[in-house]
Amino acid sequence: MNSQGRHFLQIPGPSPVPERVLRAIGMPVIDHRGPEFQKLGREVLDGCKSIFKTSGPVIIYPSSGTGAWEAAIVNTLSPGDRVLMVETGHFATQWRQMAARWGIEVDFVDGDWRHGVDPSVVEARLAEDRAHSIKAVMVVHNETSTGATSRIADVRKAMDQAHHPALLMVDTISSLGSCEYKHDEWNVDVTVSCSQKGLMLPPGLGFTAVSKKALAASKSNKLPRSYWDWEDMLKANTGGSFPYTPSTNLLYGLREAIALLLEEGLDAVFDRHQRLAAATRAAVRAWGLEVLCQEPLDYSPVLTAVLLPDGHDADRFRKIVLDKFNMSLGAGLSKLAGKVFRIGHLGECNTLTLMAALSGIEMGLDLAGIPHQAGGVMAAMASLKELGNTRENTLKVAMA
Ligand code: PLP
Repeated sequence: MNSQGRHFLQIPGPSPVPERVLRAIGMPVIDHRGPEFQKLGREVLDGCKSIFKTSGPVIIYPSSGTGAWEAAIVNTLSPGDRVLMVETGHFATQWRQMAARWGIEVDFVDGDWRHGVDPSVVEARLAEDRAHSIKAVMVVHNETSTGATSRIADVRKAMDQAHHPALLMVDTISSLGSCEYKHDEWNVDVTVSCSQKGLMLPPGLGFTAVSKKALAASKSNKLPRSYWDWEDMLKANTGGSFPYTPSTNLLYGLREAIALLLEEGLDAVFDRHQRLAAATRAAVRAWGLEVLCQEPLDYSPVLTAVLLPDGHDADRFRKIVLDKFNMSLGAGLSKLAGKVFRIGHLGECNTLTLMAALSGIEMGLDLAGIPHQAGGVMAAMASLKELGNTRENTLKVAMA
């Protein structure tokens, strides 16, 4: 194994943690019931609002993203409730399983794991539900297993067109801080997220941003909860505290990560992700390989999943890249295992990080004997040169 130089963590999360954030996390542990913590608590609870683009509460749990999913379900739904989900990939499927375990009846729209949510299907399903028995539409914004990003503003439009009162719950676990997202403007009721992807923190924080409608639902829903209860959290949060011991040091990191994102400017952050993603797709095509996502409108700014030709094992390829170049690439998940590898280009990733990662992949394709053409790295460089740094150019190529 080659352990020279720094490790290239090019999986679609957890993503590398910037030095400034690591240093912030290294602060001495403080009394979580003291005045210094309350100030920190208030700062991060307020700061999160600018990232979720909401004026409402954002609840922070010491948990992974899955904990935040559970919080979204147990605070809003009741056993026997019907919800609508779309099979965008592995994570949408996991969400379905969790809801089923809580006694929720899931209408699961079949998908081929190569597209995001089709808003017209959501509209049609909701229009059929004249009795309004569907209580929530639950979708994954960026399907990390496939590299397809669903158009949440269009999903909201579809719900409005159908005049359906269901709650809209969105998993932004791998999109928040990397893709444009507007909790309030898109009228999302619960946005679920976590720390270890676009927020550039280690794993360990889960988030739910909550609308007034979701809060109202939490007053009368019937699922039991204790640790995840929004009411207890919100009561304590008014003073900057938490009802149980929070992840103090991760919250120091969160304060720094929010500052980093706002210093760069969220629009600039999103544009950077689009440019890196377009360059990655240019490389994949030049190699003669296939981008898994088949809908250009849904191309992910966060990661690119690459299909290998039949008979070539993506896990063997990833092992060669790890052994030779000290770089981790994302594995194919569940039914995509061995068939795809995933390139993360999120968080603290810049032009040169990406160019290095693509070089490692191109050399790895050679070593693994995977049929491809040379020149992916050159194609990525040409794409980055062409895109430059302007917002206009970036928007033009988001779908390229
Ligand atoms: N949803 C999506 C889209 C994810 O990418 C992940 C993890 O990668 C999860 C849910 C599960 O989150 P966690 O592993 O933080 O519990």
